[in-house]
Amino acid sequence: MVPNQQVGGSSPSSGTKHMLHVIPVNDTIKHEASFDCVCGPTQRVFAKGIMVKHHSMDGREKVERMTGEGVPGKTWRVVED
Ligand SMILES: [Zn+2]
Repeated sequence: MVPNQQVGGSSPSSGTKHMLHVIPVNDTIKHEASFDCVCGPTQRVFAKGIMVKHHSMDGREKVERMTGEGVPGKTWRVVED
């Protein structure tokens, strides 16, 4: 048996910024957690890191903006890099 290394609880404190990808689930295209994603994600830089907001191809953002609520089955996933 290999002894378990302690996982979690410790965050990297090397000064590297966190990167968060906000990716639409069940979209019509496949998104990659990358700046080079085909949807042309928008980058927003914050003090603690960079948020990469991907754009859905099914227009769920517009529905959410208009109705103030999400589309059933069309949610968002946050991927930490
Ligand atoms: Zn994307």
